[in-house]
Amino acid sequence: MDCIFCKIVEGSIPSKKVYENEHVVAFHDIQPAAPVHILIIPKKHIATMNDVEPGDWGLLGEVHQAAQEIARQVGVAESGYRLINNCGKDGGQVVFHIHYHLLAGEKLGPLNA
Ligand code: C5P
Repeated sequence: MDCIFCKIVEGSIPSKKVYENEHVVAFHDIQPAAPVHILIIPKKHIATMNDVEPGDWGLLGEVHQAAQEIARQVGVAESGYRLINNCGKDGGQVVFHIHYHLLAGEKLGPLNA
C-alpha cells in the first residue's frame, strides 16, 4: 500500500516522533500551522473517518487518549489546544490515513474566521 503515514509507522520515511505505543504514533507535522502541530495516527491503516468500522472505535479512543497525554507531555494541556480530523475532499484531507492534528502554543482563531 502506497501510504505515506504507513511508511512513517514502519520507519521507512523519517519523522520526528513524540509518542508511540503498540497501536498509536504521533509526530511533528512537517508544515506546522501553529507553534505546536502534532499529528496523531493509529498504526492501522484506516483511510478516513468514513472508513472507521465498528471494531475500530476502541482504537480511536486510544488515539484520543494519546492526544490527552501528548498535550500534557508538551505542556499545552492547561493553556489549551485544538484536535482536528479532516475528512475527505471538502474537509481538506490530503493524506488518506486517518489522523488528528493537535494544534496549540498560541491563541487559535475562531473556526468561522
Ligand atoms: O488533514 P490533512 O490530510 O490535510 O493533513 C495532512 C498533514 O500531513 C499536513 O498538515 C502535512 O503537512 C502533514 N504531513 C507530514 N509529513 C509528511 C506528509 C504530510 O507531516 N511526510
